[in-house]
Amino acid sequence: MRIRILFVVSLLLAAAFCLAQTAETSTPERPKQIPSFDLTAIDKTTDPCVDFYQYSCGNWIKNNPIPADKSRWGRFNELDEYNVYILRDILTVAQAPGQHTPIQEKVGDFYASCMDEATIERKGATPLEPGMARIAAIKSRPQLISQVAHMQANGIQTLFSFRSSPDLHDSRLTIATIDQGGLSLPDRDYYLKDDAKSVETRQKFQEHVKKMFELAGDRPDVAAVQAKTVLAVETGLAKAAMDRTARRDPKNIDHKMHATEIAALAPNFELTQYFTESGAPKFTTLNVGNPDFFKQVNGQLATVPLDDWKTYLRWRTIDTYAPGLSKDFVDADFAFKGLYMTGQREIEPRWKRCVKSTDRNLGMALGELYVDKTFGLEGKERTLKLVQAIENAMHQDLEQLSWMSDATKQQAYAKLTAIVNNIGYPDQWRDYSTVVVKRDDYVGNVERASAFEVKRQYNKIDKPTDRKDWSMTPPTVNAYYRPTMNDINFPAGILQAPFYSMNMDDAVNYGGIGVVIGHELTHGFDDQGRKFDAEGNLKDWWTAEDAKEFEKRASCTADEYSSFVAVKDDKGEVHLNGRLTLGENTADNGGLKLAYMALMNIIGSTPAKPIDGYTPEQRFFLAYGQIWCQNVTPQQSRVLAITDPHSPGRWRVSGAVQNSAAFQKAWGCKEGQPMVRENACRVW
Ligand SMILES: [Zn+2]
Repeated sequence: MRIRILFVVSLLLAAAFCLAQTAETSTPERPKQIPSFDLTAIDKTTDPCVDFYQYSCGNWIKNNPIPADKSRWGRFNELDEYNVYILRDILTVAQAPGQHTPIQEKVGDFYASCMDEATIERKGATPLEPGMARIAAIKSRPQLISQVAHMQANGIQTLFSFRSSPDLHDSRLTIATIDQGGLSLPDRDYYLKDDAKSVETRQKFQEHVKKMFELAGDRPDVAAVQAKTVLAVETGLAKAAMDRTARRDPKNIDHKMHATEIAALAPNFELTQYFTESGAPKFTTLNVGNPDFFKQVNGQLATVPLDDWKTYLRWRTIDTYAPGLSKDFVDADFAFKGLYMTGQREIEPRWKRCVKSTDRNLGMALGELYVDKTFGLEGKERTLKLVQAIENAMHQDLEQLSWMSDATKQQAYAKLTAIVNNIGYPDQWRDYSTVVVKRDDYVGNVERASAFEVKRQYNKIDKPTDRKDWSMTPPTVNAYYRPTMNDINFPAGILQAPFYSMNMDDAVNYGGIGVVIGHELTHGFDDQGRKFDAEGNLKDWWTAEDAKEFEKRASCTADEYSSFVAVKDDKGEVHLNGRLTLGENTADNGGLKLAYMALMNIIGSTPAKPIDGYTPEQRFFLAYGQIWCQNVTPQQSRVLAITDPHSPGRWRVSGAVQNSAAFQKAWGCKEGQPMVRENACRVW
């Protein structure tokens, strides 16, 4: 079961390595602290009842073009960038000579190895050699599977996925899970759809794979054949994969079975051997996310020649390592994943990529230093107070629901009360002492850090679920809900302006972090979260009638967002997928409602004095609108429309407020205006 997050980062660039390049392309000024409430962002020429997103963000959008090294630029990214500078300060001290703590030494050496372009350049493609030699030596299918186990244990995604996750029916226990996987492009659709853009993407992908094989030392004619093979193999995996929207229904990925059962169902995967060689502890039962994938690919393992599978494994190795290799690899990797796929014009300067790589690979160590520097105990306490205020509002909201029976309400209260609030950073820091970090071996460092993380996840198998373990690092500007843990989590990175500021009025803070908290809380009760109970088990606690009422309301939201256009350009018009984005849209609508209720509980009915010409109610909605100010390249918008369960900023704002009677009252909107939906959708 995936976690439900607030915002998705670039799917392509969040690979195991940072992208690398030798020349600094730009040294932008250190960003200033970001304002929570930005009067200069507002487009006063627009009627807020006609287009509230444009009203809140119009001038921001005009004045904040996407920087050359980004494919998307919004308030989240501004804060992210601000954090990256803080992390650089930490790492600059840590990598310099002097007295350091063991943690400083570890992250400092890692960062230094990434910044050492001369050594990386000198090594060229040699870090690929051990992996390539292992693959070349494969002579049989069992040996192929051994290599798959080896690659996965070192963080190279290939063929399928193997990990640990809480048992969907007894979340107290974590079990082994295997599932579909092995694709290089961001979604199965890229391999299967026949529209012009998909055809073009496959062509570009094939050219890219060819180029990478050539850089790895293959002859152009051989590389061309191999690129075709890679696309064919991955297309086979894509055909066997379940689509993203179907996977949102937990029952579609819930197939617990005996390990011998799946091994017998798909004998060509040699799973009994695989499980032994994976490095995971011995286990007898596991969850199989998509059994059909294994059945179908089982056939392909028999019919597709062994040499083709070896080509595919070579490609997965090159693709994973490319961003950590010499400049020619880095540039080619960026040309496809950045420039072509997302419309990012320039690669990020090296230091930024190295900061982000340190966060990805040793994030809980770097996070410990970040928290020391930025986040005090008072930050934790004031956030907890806000969380409690929003939880109270949710209780109140449930009490007032007319469509839900008392029996289901009691269960909902129990689930709400059981939600665990995790704020800022984990209670216990991760111990990286066994990860060997060398100043002259960047690829090796990434490989060892990846292997450490994979092993850490494997070691959870058949053990009590570790509810204290965080899925995001402390500097991350994001938040998440985990249905199997029934917890909401707010990393320190997001607990600052523009989401929260001690200098701002309650209205602004509730419109910012208040809505974020309400959003995560609502995930426990969206179309997916509602299927899990207070303990995080997949268990139906709804009466049939209430479930029907819920689905009716959810369908309203799904239809509403399906009518919105995600991107329109010379390649055509793409609509949002209302079913893929249903959980997030439900959470946005619910979060907005709950935070508003909580704010009203504080300010009561006494009319407050306007600030900057806006009432507290208006400031609340404006603060919410401004969280989502953003510019996105058309290329990135297309990728996100296919892969991202979140709607783009425009619809997170204008889609939610048109369902809100409180919004319409605050701004004096009239029936018939675009921000007043005729049949407003309301789940919570
Ligand atoms: Zn979310």
